Amino acid sequence: MSRDGSYGDGTRSVHAGLPAPEPGQPFLPGPVFAAPYHLDPTTGPGRDGYGRPDNPTRRRLEAAIGELEGGDARAFASGQAAVTAVLMTVLRPGDTVLLPADGYYAVRSFAASTLDGLGVRAAYAPTAGPYPSFDGVRLVLLETPSNPGLDVCDVAALSAAAKAAGALVAVDNTTATPLGQRPLDLGADISVASGTKALTGHSDLLLGYAATRDATLLERITTWRNQTGGIPGAFDAWLAHRSLATLDLRLARQSANAAAVAVALAARSDVERVRWPGLPDDPSYVVAERQMRRIPGLVSIDLGSAERVAAFLKASKLVFAATSFGGLHTSADRRAQWGDDTPPGFLRISCGIEDTADLVADITAALDAT
Ligand SMILES: *Cc1c(COP(=O)(O)O)cnc(C)c1O
Repeated sequence: MSRDGSYGDGTRSVHAGLPAPEPGQPFLPGPVFAAPYHLDPTTGPGRDGYGRPDNPTRRRLEAAIGELEGGDARAFASGQAAVTAVLMTVLRPGDTVLLPADGYYAVRSFAASTLDGLGVRAAYAPTAGPYPSFDGVRLVLLETPSNPGLDVCDVAALSAAAKAAGALVAVDNTTATPLGQRPLDLGADISVASGTKALTGHSDLLLGYAATRDATLLERITTWRNQTGGIPGAFDAWLAHRSLATLDLRLARQSANAAAVAVALAARSDVERVRWPGLPDDPSYVVAERQMRRIPGLVSIDLGSAERVAAFLKASKLVFAATSFGGLHTSADRRAQWGDDTPPGFLRISCGIEDTADLVADITAALDAT
């Protein structure tokens, strides 16, 4: 389908990356399992010679993600494989990278454990700002909405400021997904994400990708992946592509559920710091409304203590205690148990696709029981 976005989100989700119809062939061809492929003894390797550099199932998934993001995509074994690929292809000794102070924790630990030793200086800014001058910065990584705090930053304004200072911009698009916002349209050089979360949404695979319109960056990211080998397997790539077809439907229900859950939680005096960027009095609301095409199904709250979170999760019948987010099943994660620097009672709730009334009733009853 066309990259110009002339179709609606549902149509784009269903048709993304599908081959042209061919009588007798399935809509989405099954996974091609191959390490080596047959070679032409005379001419040698064509496009498919070995599974690490290329695989037709993976190419179709990349075409799909590329259509949704509005760029060329490369799929990785996980979000972390994709984020670290972006950092390692762009950054060189002596460079400075600006990272979100409140973003995905494994990116900050990678900066401390690996980038620092390579002579790359990491500076930090909170997603909601204030941002320092970008002078002397090689790469600005934004994460919006941030995980787990759900703060939002203005990608277009920050990309323009970075460009003026000669810095590249990468946006972690995990929480929003390409149906929530298109960072490349907003001026970012790279959109990078975990496909483990809402993009694929069934809690059964890990995936990552980086998308860009810059041929040089694409080439360097592709070379990095070929040489370091962080590729998704054919079955996961196929499963991910199959799952993309329902992205619009899943996000719509998740977002509607989050809206209802956020309103119900905000009305309670025993729940603090309710954050959902779609609530009109949320600090993220103004920028999110302007920048995003839909608000994710994540709500974060503070229940005061680890014990109260545990009691809530035990009392709930529909909220699974689990990390990750964006899946069909509502789940919640007390981030501090992973060593995140969030308060002990901080809980990130990921709304699934259950019936809204059932979910609100279950969460309300579980809180009443604590
Ligand atoms: C989960 C996540 C990642 C890492 O993705 P994996 O697929 O778990 O490796 C990166 N960024 C954000 C914002 C995430 O939520």
